[in-house]
Amino acid sequence: MRPVWWLSLWLCSWGLLVAKEVPPNYTDLGQWARANELETRPNYTARTLLLTNEWSRIEFKLDAARMDFDGYEVRLSHPIRKQGAHWQISTRDLETVLVPLTRPPKRNPGRPIRVIALGAGHGGNDPGNLAGPKREKTYTLALARAIRPLLEKAGFKVIMIRDDDIRVELEERAERANLARADLFVSVHFNGYSGSNPGAVNGVETYCLTPSGCSSSNDAEKNGGPWARGNKTDRENINLAYCIHRAVVDQMDLPDRGVRRARFKELTLLDMPGVLVEGGYLTNERDVALIDSARGRSRYARAIADGILAYKRLIERGQAEEGR
Ligand SMILES: [Zn+2]
Repeated sequence: MRPVWWLSLWLCSWGLLVAKEVPPNYTDLGQWARANELETRPNYTARTLLLTNEWSRIEFKLDAARMDFDGYEVRLSHPIRKQGAHWQISTRDLETVLVPLTRPPKRNPGRPIRVIALGAGHGGNDPGNLAGPKREKTYTLALARAIRPLLEKAGFKVIMIRDDDIRVELEERAERANLARADLFVSVHFNGYSGSNPGAVNGVETYCLTPSGCSSSNDAEKNGGPWARGNKTDRENINLAYCIHRAVVDQMDLPDRGVRRARFKELTLLDMPGVLVEGGYLTNERDVALIDSARGRSRYARAIADGILAYKRLIERGQAEEGR
């Protein structure tokens, strides 16, 4: 028995090692489009493929790990490729981004979205990014406090993950949302750029948790990445991120830096759909001017609240008809 046991263990670990290095599987985009009644229009000069129907306009660019979904950028884990005349998308990107966005999941009719957990990033001895003497932790709390009354007015119950200048650890943030049985978790942050010309970068990025087996948007993680508790709501996460991103880009006139995916600790531990909004760059004067004024923040709060409402409508839609 003993040699066989060792042999299978050896084969198992070899299998795991090899699995990490295997290139991703790809699926034919044209075939998928036809099955989903989308028209395909390749443009060989621009190296783009456009999929359209009555409701959607989705554009892919050859060799780029992103798509334009109804006018908003959504990052993919792997580049779009072409084999002969066939455009292809990685199967994990198809399953975790394209399919859920084109066919959003429906929420159980008995459980409407009612409780929102709002997480102001950083706090206490963790200032976050800096804009001269001003600190990210101050802006995130000011924004969360501006969002709260808008959500309450819209009928939601709001759980503030912090409502003071205190540090709440990332695990504790998720735990508070889970204990409150929140239906959604929205964390607000502001970005910083440390390149040679810090002022050169601005705009909004909206993050949801990277699905297992997919790469995050900002680092060199390969195809690996473990499954986490927050991955139970992958299909909802990407839709919530998209709805909030779209509302913010529309209403704030900020450059669209994309719906992105990352394994942020707080998102990995959630029991409900969650996102993290990087609402602008504290290293960019224009973004700071927006975030620094009460008027700018109140517009920002409106945009995030509208994004949450758009998600609620999307995910609860059609339930009356289904319930007939
Ligand atoms: Zn932050």
